[in-house]
Amino acid sequence: MLELRPTCEHCNKALPPASTEARICSYECTFCAACVDEVLGNVCPNCGGGFVPRPVRPSRNWKGDNYLGHDPASTRVRHKPVDPDAHARFAAGIRAIPPEQR
Ligand SMILES: [Zn+2]
Ligand SMILES: [Zn+2]
Repeated sequence: MLELRPTCEHCNKALPPASTEARICSYECTFCAACVDEVLGNVCPNCGGGFVPRPVRPSRNWKGDNYLGHDPASTRVRHKPVDPDAHARFAAGIRAIPPEQR
């Protein structure tokens, strides 16, 4: 199940479950949209993959207990800021490749 991490891994901005700014890679590395665009260049610093908007888990029990009340968001903060220079070097050969071809 998607972990719904509470903050941006780079800037530590709060990303509550209903945030429309949360972005995730396939490993659930979680960043805010501004960091993905302005710092990361849509290259995950941990895996090199691209990002997509994180889906919002329903807050209401529409069906079968599949909602935040039963499956709450994670509270474990993972704050590992990237070094912008190191990331730029890492991403230099990756960012021009579309995520679906990486
Ligand atoms: Zn951020
Ligand atoms: Zn990743």
